[in-house]
Amino acid sequence: MKGFRCNRCGDCCYTPRLTDKDIIRIKKAGYKNFIFTDNFGVKYIKEKANGKCMFLKEGKTATCTIHPYRAEICRKYPTILNGKSCKPVEFSFDKYLKERK
Ligand code: SF4
Repeated sequence: MKGFRCNRCGDCCYTPRLTDKDIIRIKKAGYKNFIFTDNFGVKYIKEKANGKCMFLKEGKTATCTIHPYRAEICRKYPTILNGKSCKPVEFSFDKYLKERK
C-alpha cells in the first residue's frame, strides 16, 4: 500500500495463506512442518497458541524470522487498512462486532 509505513507491531502476522510457490520457496530454505491445511484444502502457515504466525518473533519490535522467504501475501500486505489498525480486516471486524454488543 502506497504511503504505508510498517512500525513492526506484528499485528498483521496471523496465519498467512500459502501459495504453492511459497511452499516451495520456504521448503528450499530448509523449513519443515510449517503447513496447516484447512477442511477446504487451503494451506496456511501454522499458528502459535496466540493465533500468530509461527515464524513471528514477538517483542517490542516484531520480526519475521523467514523474511527473505515469507509468503506472497505478506509481501503484499496491507492492501487495505481498517482505521489505524494493522490487523487483518477479518480480525478488526471481529473486534468491531464484539464492541457493538
Ligand atoms: S511469514 Fe513473516 S511476515 Fe508473514 S505472517 Fe509470518 S512472521 Fe509475518
